[in-house]
Amino acid sequence: MRRFDAAGAGLVPGQTVRARVTTHQPWGISVMIPGHEDIGASVDATVIDSPSGNPRALPEEYPAVGAEVEAVVQQLRRYTSPAWARLSLRSQDLECLQWRCDFCGTLVVLSPGGDGVTMDVHSADGPGSTAVVAHRECLAIRLHAQSLEPARIRSVGRRP
Ligand SMILES: [Zn+2]
Repeated sequence: MRRFDAAGAGLVPGQTVRARVTTHQPWGISVMIPGHEDIGASVDATVIDSPSGNPRALPEEYPAVGAEVEAVVQQLRRYTSPAWARLSLRSQDLECLQWRCDFCGTLVVLSPGGDGVTMDVHSADGPGSTAVVAHRECLAIRLHAQSLEPARIRSVGRRP
């Protein structure tokens, strides 16, 4: 049986996706990511731009139900079922998504060209996973001197 923590495989925080608005909610919007129908997805009102300047977009400022929007993946939650993608529609996040590094606690850029990586943690004990966000260097320097992984961490996803 397929583990629920396999849902959303291929999605990575910092990546931009197309998303279709399915419902409006008081807290934000539910969306569907075409090609990733196996994972729930939503956008909180705090990460939808508000033309009126509110810290949370007002429901009348949400994109229309049925509209297709460009979004950036903020977080993939696969610790408990169902797997869930949290997206942002904020223009500043679409330009440059930043998140806190789990090693040094400062912000790291997860958008393409940034110095951030996401490490998924799984266990054979059962389904469920969690993700660690890190600067490439914060992760690489913590590994054993004999490990082959630091070089890969510094280059993963980057063309030679
Ligand atoms: Zn760091």
